[in-house]
Amino acid sequence: MAAGPGEAMAHSAFDTILVLDFGSQYTHLITRRLRELNVFSEMLPCTQKLSELKFVPKGIILSGGPYSVYEEGSPHVDPAVFDLNVPILGICYGMQELAYRLNPDNVIAGTHREYGHAMLKAQSIDNHVDRLFEGIEESMRVWMSHGDKLAKLPDGFHTVATSDNSEYAAIGHQSKPIYGLQFHPEVTHTQNGTILLKNFAVGICGCKQEWTMQKFLEEAIAQIRHTVGEKGQVLAAISGGVDSTVAAKLMKEAIGSRFWAVLVNNGVMRLNECEQVKKDLSEALGINLTVVEASERFLDGLKGIDDPEKKRKFIGGKFIDIFEEEAVKIEEAAANDPAKAGKIEFFMQGTLYPDVIESLSFKGPSATIKTHHNVGGLPARMANGQGLKLIEPLRSLYKDEVRALGRALGIREELVMRHPFPGPGIAVRILGEVTPEKVEIARQADHIFISEIRKAGLYDQISQAYAAVDPSRAVGVMGDKRVYGYIIVLRAVTTIDYMTAEAFNFPWDFLQRVMNRIVNEVHGVCRVVYDVTSKPPGTIELE
Ligand code: GLN
Repeated sequence: MAAGPGEAMAHSAFDTILVLDFGSQYTHLITRRLRELNVFSEMLPCTQKLSELKFVPKGIILSGGPYSVYEEGSPHVDPAVFDLNVPILGICYGMQELAYRLNPDNVIAGTHREYGHAMLKAQSIDNHVDRLFEGIEESMRVWMSHGDKLAKLPDGFHTVATSDNSEYAAIGHQSKPIYGLQFHPEVTHTQNGTILLKNFAVGICGCKQEWTMQKFLEEAIAQIRHTVGEKGQVLAAISGGVDSTVAAKLMKEAIGSRFWAVLVNNGVMRLNECEQVKKDLSEALGINLTVVEASERFLDGLKGIDDPEKKRKFIGGKFIDIFEEEAVKIEEAAANDPAKAGKIEFFMQGTLYPDVIESLSFKGPSATIKTHHNVGGLPARMANGQGLKLIEPLRSLYKDEVRALGRALGIREELVMRHPFPGPGIAVRILGEVTPEKVEIARQADHIFISEIRKAGLYDQISQAYAAVDPSRAVGVMGDKRVYGYIIVLRAVTTIDYMTAEAFNFPWDFLQRVMNRIVNEVHGVCRVVYDVTSKPPGTIELE
C-alpha cells in the first residue's frame, strides 16, 4: 500500500500510539478516542512485523478480538513487542494475548461468559491506586464482552482492579509499564474510559497532546512540498464535496497553481452546483480549477439505461474517459508553462482514514486482507496508464478531522459541513431512466427541500438528505384540473458511520411546508412522500 504524505508526516511529527488490531469491532474506537485526546494514534493489523515499522511508537495497544488465544490458528502478536521497551496495554483479547505469551497456561475458557456492564473497583496499594486509574479512584461502570479469562496472574504482574466476576479485571506489571484490561475502555458504555486511555497515553507513555488540525496543517504543507519538490505538479479530480475541497485547498496552500483541479460537469449535479463550486474553489479559495462541461455527453449516453448498476457503470466509465482527455491537455499546458515547466508526476486523491482502516483491519487467519477499493477506478488508471504517483494528504484523517482542517484552512462553514453526495449524482436519485426533464425536476425539488432544511436550522442534525424522483405517475387535482405527475420521494437520515441509518424525525408542519412548495413550484409533480425506511433494510440512496 502506497504511503501518502499525510501518513508519513503524522508519524514523524507527532507522538504516536500504535494500535494493533486483532479483529474487534471496537478497535477503530481506540484510535478515535486517542485522537479526541489530541494524541495521534494509528492502527495496523496484529500481524504487523514490528521490525518493519517505519516509526517508533510511544506506546502500543493490543485490541480485543473474536478469537481465543489458546485456539489453533488464532492470531498472535510479534514477540518483539516486549523488546521495543515502550508501554503496552492489552485490551480483552489483547490482555489474554499478553498473558498467553508469558505462559500458555495463563488463559482458559471461563465458566460463564460476561457481556455487558460490570462494576469495577481499582485496588489500592499503599493507599494509592495504580497510575492507570488516577483520577478515577471511585468504582466505575465498565463494559465487558468476553468468554475467556485469566486462570492466574502472569509472573511479575499484580492486580490493579477487580470486578465481581473478574478477579483480574485489570492487571499491571510490577516494574514495567505493561497493562492488561479485561473490559473495553474505548466504548462509551465504560464510564471514565477516556480518562483511562489518557492516563495510559499521556501519563504512562508520555505522549504530548499535540494532535490538532492547526499543527497538522503546518506539517502537511511542509510534507507535501517535500514530496512534490520545487517544480513538481499535481493533478486531481474534484467534486466540490468536503473531502476533495479540503484536500484541494491544502494542495493549493502547499504548491499554489502547480496543483491542477478538474471538475467534470456530468449533467447530474445539483441545482447551480457547478457554478457554485467554481465560485467557491476558484474565486474564494484561489484553487487552479478547470471545469469540463460534459453534461450533454453524459445525458445522451444515459438515454435508455434504466438499470441502476448500468447507470453507475456508465457514469463512472465516461467520467474516467473525459478526465483522461483533460489530463492530456493539462499535462501539455503544465509542461509548456515557463513559470511551472515541470512534468505532472502526481495524482491527488482525497482518501480518508476509515478507508485505510477498512483495508488494514484484521479479518481473520483465513480471510485475505482486502485491498483498498478506489472509487471509480480512477487512481488505478492514472497510476498505470499515465504513470502518476498517488498522493493522499488526508489519508490519516477521520471525517470530523477533515472538517476541522477545512476550518483551519478558512473554508466557509456551510461547505465544511456539507452532506455527502454520491459520485453518480442525481442519476441514482431518479428511479429508472434519466432524462433531462427528470433531472430538472429532481434538482428543483431537492433545492426546495434542502433550503427548507437549512431555514429550519436542521441541516447539521441530519447526515444526508435529498429529494428523488419516482417516475411512476400518480393522479392529482390541481386548480380543478386532473393532473398526472411524478412522485417526489424525500429522504433524510441520521447516521454515525453510514453503515446503519435512521430516518430523520421531522416535525409534521415542516413536511407539510415542503410538500406545499414542491407541488406548487415544481412543474410535473403532484405528490410528495417521505421515506421512513431505516438502513438496513433500505440503503441511504434509492439506487
Ligand atoms: N475471544 C476472547 C474472549 O471471549 C476475547 C474477547 C474480546 O476481545 N472482546 O474472551
